[in-house]
Amino acid sequence: MLSEEPPDNPSSIDPPGPPRQRAEDAQPPVQRIPGYTSEELARHSVFNELNIFPGRPNEVIQTDWSCSQCGYNLRGLMTGEKCPECGSIELFRPPPPGQISYATWYAERKKNASNLKAFLLLVVIVIAGGPFAVVGTFLSQMIPTFLGPIVVGPSIEEIMKISLILLVVETRPFLIRRQDEITFAALAGALGFAFIENLLYLKVYIPNPTLELEIWRWTVCTMLHVTCTLIASRGVIAVWRATDEQMRIPMVQLMYRPILIAIVVHGSYNAIVTLVGIAGFDF
Ligand SMILES: [Zn+2]
Repeated sequence: MLSEEPPDNPSSIDPPGPPRQRAEDAQPPVQRIPGYTSEELARHSVFNELNIFPGRPNEVIQTDWSCSQCGYNLRGLMTGEKCPECGSIELFRPPPPGQISYATWYAERKKNASNLKAFLLLVVIVIAGGPFAVVGTFLSQMIPTFLGPIVVGPSIEEIMKISLILLVVETRPFLIRRQDEITFAALAGALGFAFIENLLYLKVYIPNPTLELEIWRWTVCTMLHVTCTLIASRGVIAVWRATDEQMRIPMVQLMYRPILIAIVVHGSYNAIVTLVGIAGFDF
């Protein structure tokens, strides 16, 4: 692709380096305003804001641009038009080419992000994800409710297990290189959480647990945590991919459906185990 560019293409005057992505090549040089860093301007750009300016005519969306409710690609449609997939009206539109926006900020940060920093961050999340989720879940259990084990517990646990990697996706998405890193980090969070939870149940909460209970917790309960987190992590990946490919502010809405599925699966398991427990069988 690069060899097909005409010699007067602006990207051909860039300093030599690794080939950059298609969307970055489309960005003309970033403008400067005295007294502000380009990062400040990018973060406060009006082009990151809602598409509600009065008198602004609708236009054809010329780049890949997801519906922030369902992820459908709105390219080729008019701004202000209903999403053909879910019927909602997308409130953001792509920034005009050459204007400072989240896209210019993202492209610049991604270009300058250090591989070492990205790797170290992943290591920290992999190690800390599980303990972090346990602490958060503990704090949440200070509010007792009879729906706790079936609604509140699963909701909080499923959110907490992916919370560290989601924090990175929301604030430093340029430090993630591949979606596998998200899967890996979420998986580590789930395993770490399950490991600590199992130890708590088998060593602290339940005196003299049976061998069956120990096996049950280390197999079924652990698999449940991993499975639910893998479902939820698909949502985190959807958020990151839309940001990375379209260089726009992360849309957390895109993960609502996967996280809800994970919560329902987890809550259903808890409900079944609770009912069976009431019937006289102890897990
Ligand atoms: Zn939609």
